[in-house]
Amino acid sequence: MSDSGFSRVRRRLVLATGAGLCSTLVKRADADEKTDTPEARLRELLSERRSLRLFRGTEHVEATYWTADGGYNRDEYLNVCWLMRDLQADRVFPMNRGLLDVLCGVQAWLLRTGVTAPLRIHSGYRTPKTNRQTEGAALDSRHLVGRAVDISVAGVSNLKLAGMASVLGRGGTGFYPGRNFVHVDTGDERIWVDRPRKS
Ligand SMILES: [Zn+2]
Repeated sequence: MSDSGFSRVRRRLVLATGAGLCSTLVKRADADEKTDTPEARLRELLSERRSLRLFRGTEHVEATYWTADGGYNRDEYLNVCWLMRDLQADRVFPMNRGLLDVLCGVQAWLLRTGVTAPLRIHSGYRTPKTNRQTEGAALDSRHLVGRAVDISVAGVSNLKLAGMASVLGRGGTGFYPGRNFVHVDTGDERIWVDRPRKS
């Protein structure tokens, strides 16, 4: 996607979130160019305790995977990785920590808008075999390297969720109208809409 196309889609997604904090962040970015980065926006949202509330099917995890005092907590981090495992192959993978931070930022942002529902995980790590058997999955999907998750949140539109992830993430956000999840990954910065070639 060209730079102008990328900006247009991002602007559309940002506008679509309709959240007060988003406009605050964008105004701050306008006032000070240095704040107009995903890292700066994430810093606005991440506290000294980075926690995730996740569920998947009948399983759920509440994990504080990082604190300012103690750094990463291995057991809590592994609990998150466990929930994001390849269910089909029953394989756990060390998920990218930057990706967890983006999810944490999205969750914190949702909390500020009154949404307390946990993030629902539709897909996390995938073995090559599982990825090959996943409809629409790219051969080089970042799910293969623990750098992607597909998520949804009850009561929040996927368009809004995609907007939040695109504002906070240094990576890809995929929004597929008609499907029940949003793809979030860490990697090259890109956004795609209406193009369900990657999942
Ligand atoms: Zn995906």
